[in-house]
Amino acid sequence: MDPVEKDLRERLAKVGRQIWAEKLTHGASGNISARIPGTNKCIIKPSGYSFGDLEPHHFIVVDIETRKVLEGKEKPSIETPFHTRLYKQWPEAGGVVHVHPQYCTILSILEEEIIPMGIEIFEAPALAKGIPVSKFAPPGTDELADNLVESMKDHVAALMPHHGLTTIGKTIEEAAVNAKMAEFLAKLHYEVMLVGKPRPLRADLKKTLIDRAKQRGLLV
Ligand SMILES: [Zn+2]
Repeated sequence: MDPVEKDLRERLAKVGRQIWAEKLTHGASGNISARIPGTNKCIIKPSGYSFGDLEPHHFIVVDIETRKVLEGKEKPSIETPFHTRLYKQWPEAGGVVHVHPQYCTILSILEEEIIPMGIEIFEAPALAKGIPVSKFAPPGTDELADNLVESMKDHVAALMPHHGLTTIGKTIEEAAVNAKMAEFLAKLHYEVMLVGKPRPLRADLKKTLIDRAKQRGLLV
């Protein structure tokens, strides 16, 4: 196997297990993928596997243009349409994470966009642009892919109503950091709502964070 693909498969399995350990998803829900650099292919989680059980050989290689399975016997994730569409929309994106974490899901049901607040956001500064809510569509549909891709034109994370969260990054690890921080911000937003009204970051702090993301070479 090509060493680049081998390395990516190992990284995907490791990130999957970390996401599982952080309780960002449960059961067989959620999916992750990584683009094979310099190709029109991505490696994606198979359908029906829990993040906690992922091994490098489980992943499926899919053509980003045609969505055809190029390698692997399992069925690729039902959300393959939005993974491939996000890679097409963001040529620099190298990883996609989709999960159903508790607080993101609560806010997605309320169709309440996550307002970035607090200082921990420095760990994932590209999220300072905000985390919008896409329009509703059923899981696994092209309509869901259309709606999600539209809401992520200028954002590296978005909520999907009654469903969950999707993030991207230049690498799969960066997409996972964005997912972990988005859930942290969703919990903070939820807790602020218990006692008052969320207040957005000051405009100068937001600019500092976005500049920081660019300086660090993050997807923003
Ligand atoms: Zn989902």
